[in-house]
Formats: sequence, C-alpha cells, structure tokens
Amino acid sequence: QMILYDDHLIDRSEVKIDIEDRAYQFGDGVYEVIRVYQAHPFCMDEHLARLERSAREIYLQLPYEIEKIKSLLSQLIEKNNLQDGNIYIQISRGTAPRQHGFPKESRPLIIAYAQPNQRPLQDLKQGVRAITTQDIRWLRCDIKSLNLLGAVLAKQAAVENNAKEAILIRDGKVTEGSSTNIFFIKNGQLWTHPANHLILHGITRQVTLSLAEKLEIPVKQEAILESQIPEMDECFLTSTTMEICPIVQVNDQPIGNGHPGPITRKLQLEFEKQITQLHTV
Ligand code: PLP
Repeated sequence: QMILYDDHLIDRSEVKIDIEDRAYQFGDGVYEVIRVYQAHPFCMDEHLARLERSAREIYLQLPYEIEKIKSLLSQLIEKNNLQDGNIYIQISRGTAPRQHGFPKESRPLIIAYAQPNQRPLQDLKQGVRAITTQDIRWLRCDIKSLNLLGAVLAKQAAVENNAKEAILIRDGKVTEGSSTNIFFIKNGQLWTHPANHLILHGITRQVTLSLAEKLEIPVKQEAILESQIPEMDECFLTSTTMEICPIVQVNDQPIGNGHPGPITRKLQLEFEKQITQLHTV
C-alpha cells in the first residue's frame, strides 16, 4: 500500500510518525474523507475547500497549494489502483517538543491513504437504526478537526446498542449524527439543522440540499426537537461514505411505517444519478 507522506508516495511500512507529532498528541490538525467511485473522486474540490477552511480556522497553514494537493491525491488513487473506496487525508501541525501553544518552528505534515470500500448497498436499500445520545462535543463542530472523542464515544454507544448511528442532541434539539448529517421529512418538507458552528457542513448535506431544490422539495434549515422525532414521516442521514441512507428506527420507535420513505427514495435516486454520471461521461 502506497501512502502519501508530505509530497511523495512511500510504502506504508516506511512511514514514520514522531511521538511528538501534534496530531498524535493533541489531535492538533484537520482531515477529510473523499469518496472515490470507479477511480473518480466525488466532490474533490468541495472537500479540499473545506480542508482549507478547517485549517484556516485553527490557524494552520496548508503545506502546499490546493492544486498541488489535488495532483498528489490523484497520484495516490492511481498508484494504489483505487477503484471504489475512500481517500483519507490529514494535516497535522507538525512535530515539536510537547507544549500546548503553537510551536515557533514546526512544519505541517500531510498524509493520505486509500481505503478500498464498496457502497453500503444493503443499508441504502433497507435503511438503518439509530439511537439518540447527548451531544457532548465542543462548540466548533464546523471544523473537521482530528479531535474526535465526542464522536467516538457517541458511535460506540450506537455500536453497543446495535445501531448504525448516534443522533446527537444538544439542548433538546437534533444537531447531527456522530459522523453524518441528519434530515427529517414532515408533510413533504425537508428539515435539517442550519450550517452553523454546531454541525459539520457536510458535503453530502450540500449535495442533498441542491437535489431537493432540483426536485422542488421545500427545505427548512431549522433544528427539530428530540421530542418531535417520533412524529416525523421520514428520516435519513448523509455522509461521504454512507451517501443518503434512510433511518427507519430511532431508539425503539419506527419512523413512519418503519421502511424507507418515498421522498428519501427520490433523493437517493437522484444522488445515484450524480455518481453514475461521474464515470460514464
Ligand atoms: N457530520 C460529522 C460530524 C461528520 O464527521 C461527517 C463526515 O464524516 C459528516 C457530518 C458528513 O459530512 P460529509 O458529507 O462531508 O462526509
């Protein structure tokens, strides 16, 4: 397996991460996950723009121009002969003697690798179960930072309850999933949390909103209350790896009739068209 390390590709066994790398010690860095369909990256520009923004928000200077990073990632896909899967990319503030404040001298380190992975077809078709849990994360969830303990603990609670995702609740309202954005449908209207500091501004969320516009589905970017979940007609999650995936049960309550709903299906179909276009044009 070939890994992007700084500005070159090396074998995984040759990668050396220092014990004082700030990503390792503090989670001091940012990351992205980009989906690859049939060797074509999906929404690469949007992901790299978000990476740049996340870095800027933590006063981290990207080691290279976006165009150069883009070309390095293309090489990574090619050298690993990645067909279907993800590219994980992270940027650490670099290595320096351990102290919390930014080091005067450290060079940001970019690493990326390819993970072959098939589309979650069964989940997309049948829908998944989710639980709700408290959103204990910090107040800058719009930054895709390497500090993921809040998400890790939430996802583990889901795993232990045989659920695919944990829906996070802050002050009684649904924010997002531990690694996904959450949408609801009620009376033909789509509801999702506004893109502020309390959620990650998901790329798939954005794609979904533009599909909704195309399909003339009215959208309300407003949080719903946890107590309103059982009244919802449909529910789904979105993410780079899970695409648009129906949620058919939350805790012990079925959503709608307990099967993926018609508006969710419509959006899924449109999404599928977009990703097929990617490699057929
Ligand atoms: N929300 C959180 C907290 C995430 O970590 C992610 C991505 O993994 C998402 C939402 C979905 O974002 P995207 O559609 O850009 O993958």
